[in-house]
Amino acid sequence: QRVGYAVVGLGKLTAEELIPAIRTSRHAFLAALVTSEKDKGVALAHANDLTEDDVYTYGEFERLAERDDVEAVFIVLPNSMHREFVERAARMGKHVLCEKPLSTNVADAQAMVDACREAGVLLMTAYRCQYTPEHWAVREAVHSGRLGTVRTIDSIHSHTEHDPEAWRMRMEYAGGGPLVDVGIYSLNIIRFVLGKEPLWVFADANRPQGDPRFAEIEERVSWMMGFEGGIVANCHTSYGSRDTSTLRVVGEAAKVELDPAFNYGCLRLTLTDTEAAHQPRFPYYDQFGNEVDHFAQCIREGKIPWTPGEEGVADHIVMDAIYESARTGKRVDLPAVAELDASR
Ligand code: NAD
Repeated sequence: QRVGYAVVGLGKLTAEELIPAIRTSRHAFLAALVTSEKDKGVALAHANDLTEDDVYTYGEFERLAERDDVEAVFIVLPNSMHREFVERAARMGKHVLCEKPLSTNVADAQAMVDACREAGVLLMTAYRCQYTPEHWAVREAVHSGRLGTVRTIDSIHSHTEHDPEAWRMRMEYAGGGPLVDVGIYSLNIIRFVLGKEPLWVFADANRPQGDPRFAEIEERVSWMMGFEGGIVANCHTSYGSRDTSTLRVVGEAAKVELDPAFNYGCLRLTLTDTEAAHQPRFPYYDQFGNEVDHFAQCIREGKIPWTPGEEGVADHIVMDAIYESARTGKRVDLPAVAELDASR
């Protein structure tokens, strides 16, 4: 039996990616919409074979408790609103899939994990790139030994934001700049492909004077992360650069590259060894469909999701350290954290 989702927040991502993905998924179906603008919600409901009765305002959210067909709530709101809605969903006994970044800081993210645990509901961070065959192939290349000893990793995720009024440019809503929005993909995927937590970070940030887009947030963050075994990763993220989305893992014997690495589709993987450059092709899939199906199956089977809330907290811990290093100009050592990989 399929799992019914209520989607909270009807922005571009919801309308163009998430609703189509839920509607074409194998294990989920679209049951309800939650919005600040009822008219917009009703129009979207009608376009997706729902009725006006399936649309709720933020204030009516708790009425979902009466809907037994809604088992999962997908939070797709500005980052600072995640905690409130995750906790409200948990109090209703609904399982929660929450967009990245999990929150705007470590304390709020941890409170969300605790609230879901206490309520006995599952919490998953929507890290779509951990549900693609290409990213798993990179991880496999690292873990199978095909690359030899891994030495260095580099990754860029950047684009240009134009609107200084957008919530993404406000610290209060976003909790940071490009790092928490798109740089988080580089961070999260490097932790995923290595299966290791960084030991230290060293960072630099740029905030151009007089550009209203960067009155509160940074334009760019560049950071280095050190891992066990002398592996070093170099990453850049920016809201003022051409679209770039790359990942490269270089080992002693071979290297593996994804370019683009974090787009919604058409990722291109190249594995170069001493013989040749291999470009394997993968069957068509939908990243968002894979993540909503995974969470639906976890709910049915009572399993912890592959990217639980704790995975979101882990990234917040590293991002805090990156901002601290950029502020102080000093390398920041990270506390030894239990490696998630060991527990799943
Ligand atoms: P968006 O600006 O399109 O807005 C999402 C929803 O929040 C809309 O319904 C909007 O009405 C509402 N909203 C916006 N500003 C608000 C405000 N100030 N007060 C109340 N409601 C407001 O945002 P988005 O791009 O859909 O991002 C939402 C979340 O999804 C973010 O956490 C973002 O990081 C994440 N996201 C993830 C991906 C991905 O690939 N996984 C892509 C885009 C966004």
